[in-house]
Amino acid sequence: MSISITQAVSLAEHTTLKVGGEALRFAAVHDEDELVAAVAHAKKEKLSITVLGGGSNVLVSDAGVSGMVIQNRIIGLALEDTNDATLLTASAGEVFDDIVAEMADIGVWGLENLSHIPGSVGATPVQNVGAYGVDVADLIQSVRVYDTETQEYSELSNADCQFGYRDSLFKKPEGKKYIVVSVTYAFAKDAGPTLDYRDLQNRFENTPTPHEVRDAVIEIRSAKFPNWKEVGTAGSFFKNPIIEQSRYAILLETYPELPGFPTTDQKIKVPLGWILDKVLGLKGEGTEKVGTYQGQALVLINRGQATAEDITSFADEIVAKVKEATEIDVEWEVTKIK
Ligand SMILES: Cc1cc2nc3c(=O)[nH]c(=O)nc-3n(C[C@H](O)[C@H](O)[C@H](O)COP(=O)(O)OP(=O)(O)OC[C@H]3O[C@@H](n4cnc5c(N)ncnc54)[C@H](O)[C@@H]3O)c2cc1C
Repeated sequence: MSISITQAVSLAEHTTLKVGGEALRFAAVHDEDELVAAVAHAKKEKLSITVLGGGSNVLVSDAGVSGMVIQNRIIGLALEDTNDATLLTASAGEVFDDIVAEMADIGVWGLENLSHIPGSVGATPVQNVGAYGVDVADLIQSVRVYDTETQEYSELSNADCQFGYRDSLFKKPEGKKYIVVSVTYAFAKDAGPTLDYRDLQNRFENTPTPHEVRDAVIEIRSAKFPNWKEVGTAGSFFKNPIIEQSRYAILLETYPELPGFPTTDQKIKVPLGWILDKVLGLKGEGTEKVGTYQGQALVLINRGQATAEDITSFADEIVAKVKEATEIDVEWEVTKIK
């Protein structure tokens, strides 16, 4: 099996933040055999392996990647009907929003709240993508992976993936060896709309269709996110912090309107965008090169000339300001690649 491996490929062109240096080696793989060959090549040349999907959740360093970047472009879809669920197995290189649209088109409930999240199917379990009250982990039955250490394919169950808030096994050191090749989503036949999220409540007089929910989500999102095809962004740059109830109570004394959402482990998730906007006045602020988006302060934008270093310094400054004002430790949602 011979695959095309190119050298000195600009990664800025493969990421939505539009920054970053070059990859020493770059291979786009289109099927499982090509993936095996790309990994074997990297091993033979003693190159580190970095996987890239649509590049919509990464910040590549200005120095680039001194190993091999493998871009997963494996495509394919299979639908299966069981008594109580519709199963969809999608290959990692499929555009996630295309399958969200397709499921809404055929009237299957499940993915519609995740409409317009950029990127590939293969990345969805990595950060357990979520929006408007739905996390993809709720819908993932299993994930097929290639283990770059044993060089074998295997199947991980939902529990194996250790899903958490924007987190999974694939983000942990022991999970970095896996490359996702396909994801099987299960949509319960007795499912209906999930409309608990503030912006979706009271929007429909009658029970909507999956397509109507998708349209509503797209409309809501268009005010909060810039068009990533035109503006450099990776969406929400930081995770919403999850804090102890006692800290939340202290913050409420100073900021009585600070929203808080109880989590299943008795903590409180606070919307960081609110803190950036109402406490720190950072909405729409920044420098000539990098700033927060005027529609949602959690979203950082490359104003045209930013380097990865500019974005990192700006993000670090925000983290420090939040800590100083609220004692909250903020984590990046975006993955650093170097
Ligand atoms: C405008 C905008 C809005 C967004 N809104 C949301 C949102 O509402 N909710 C949300 O959760 N996210 C959101 N995101 C973030 C992003 O779209 C998701 O994280 C998406 O899943 C990333 O997919 P990708 O293919 O671009 O991944 P990439 O950015 O290419 O990769 C992300 C990470 O996953 C790893 N990875 C990618 N593919 C594989 C694979 N096949 N196997 C193993 N590892 C892999 C990469 O190494 C990297 O660490 C948004 C981004 C933008 C730009």
